[in-house]
Amino acid sequence: MARLRDLPKIDDLAADPRLSGYPRALRVAAAREVVSSLRAAIQAGAVPDLGLAGELVRERVEGLAVPSLRRAINLTGVILHTGLGRARLAPSAAAHVAEVAGSHSLLEFDVESGGRGDRQSHVRDVLCRLTGAEDALVLNNAAAGVLATLAALAKGGEVILSRGQMVEIGGSFRMPDVVRQSGCQLVEVGCTNKTRLRDYEQAVTPETKAILRCHPSNFRIIGFHEEPGLDELAAFARSAGLLMIDDQGNGALLGLERYGLPKEATLPESIAAGADVVVASGDKLLGGPQAGLVLGRSELISRVRKHPLARAMRIDKLSLAALEATLALYEQERVEEIPTHAALGLPLDAVRKRAEALAEGFSTVIEPGTTEVGAGAAPGVGLPTWRVGLPPASPDRHLRRLRQRTVPVIGRIQEGRVWLDPRTLAEDEITEARQAIEEAIA
Ligand SMILES: *Cc1c(COP(=O)(O)O)cnc(C)c1O
Repeated sequence: MARLRDLPKIDDLAADPRLSGYPRALRVAAAREVVSSLRAAIQAGAVPDLGLAGELVRERVEGLAVPSLRRAINLTGVILHTGLGRARLAPSAAAHVAEVAGSHSLLEFDVESGGRGDRQSHVRDVLCRLTGAEDALVLNNAAAGVLATLAALAKGGEVILSRGQMVEIGGSFRMPDVVRQSGCQLVEVGCTNKTRLRDYEQAVTPETKAILRCHPSNFRIIGFHEEPGLDELAAFARSAGLLMIDDQGNGALLGLERYGLPKEATLPESIAAGADVVVASGDKLLGGPQAGLVLGRSELISRVRKHPLARAMRIDKLSLAALEATLALYEQERVEEIPTHAALGLPLDAVRKRAEALAEGFSTVIEPGTTEVGAGAAPGVGLPTWRVGLPPASPDRHLRRLRQRTVPVIGRIQEGRVWLDPRTLAEDEITEARQAIEEAIA
């Protein structure tokens, strides 16, 4: 314990001339953190090298001077990686965000009349054209979309949900909790693997207001599985005077089968199947910003729009700018410019070329693997890929070194090696990623 007395003084550490370029507050904060972690180590019985304190402070000051939310290179083999920000925006969308962010804009200004405009007007018509919906509203995210929709349309009533769709989606968005929070009474029907139309029919009471369907998203039931199609459910809902609300989730405007993946319903298909309201995320298969699309019948969407929750959870102007620019790419048939589509559609030989460009000259291996779509789309299946395996010695250290960079490179360990999947690597990131690999395995 005597060593506590040997701890360097915070003021001395902060006065290190090598740090003179940094503000004093930053130097003191870093010195405080370092001294306090050294003190904790000594108290825990460790014998830290106090001579390294200066070096640790320098690293910490440099760390504090770099933004915490910063760019990273995703080589995890998951295209829509929730921890890495889900969808990456198209260059045109990112540029549009930068322009709107750095200027005043027509967010809620009507140039015709010179009076107050509506932020939703920037995306409403294009969303209707692309999905076939009568009306559209965009909120902060899909969780907000489901909550506001239920609160506005079914509050105080019963909402029927299949036990097969009683799911939790990333970041503890639990369907039963959301239904309760919206002021609705949840009525569970069927079993985990089988729910029949009859189960829904028998659950209807005079209090029932809606049938909710939730895309199971992040898991798949294999084996005996049965549930009515959305068209059947929607037809039943209509005949029973109930609302059909579909939490479609992934926001796909185009089918995944074009990439050789199993078919999943797209937004236009959910609308065509007769759902009254369809809710989806903007930053999954749509490939845009975080947003919650609420699409459907005009009379219903206007009721959601008027609900106070819709105001509380409205989309911000930067996401709106990104969404408008992303939707424009669909309308102009330029989807290959959307990075999510570019990654999904990258031919296998092009992935191989990228893997070679990444690995060339290093003692690495290139082997076939699987890229996952991620964000709950197409769970359990994936796309064939080629991935780069770093030398097998000390994979944990490799992973950490790749991660602890100003621009972190994120891979994953399997079978005792770090694997890097270049399907999500942009052409202009190759040099940076190579540098990171070189330093990680040095
Ligand atoms: C992802 C997802 C959500 C949540 O979407 P956020 O935009 O993250 O709020 C809700 N429902 C389903 C079915 C989903 O897949």
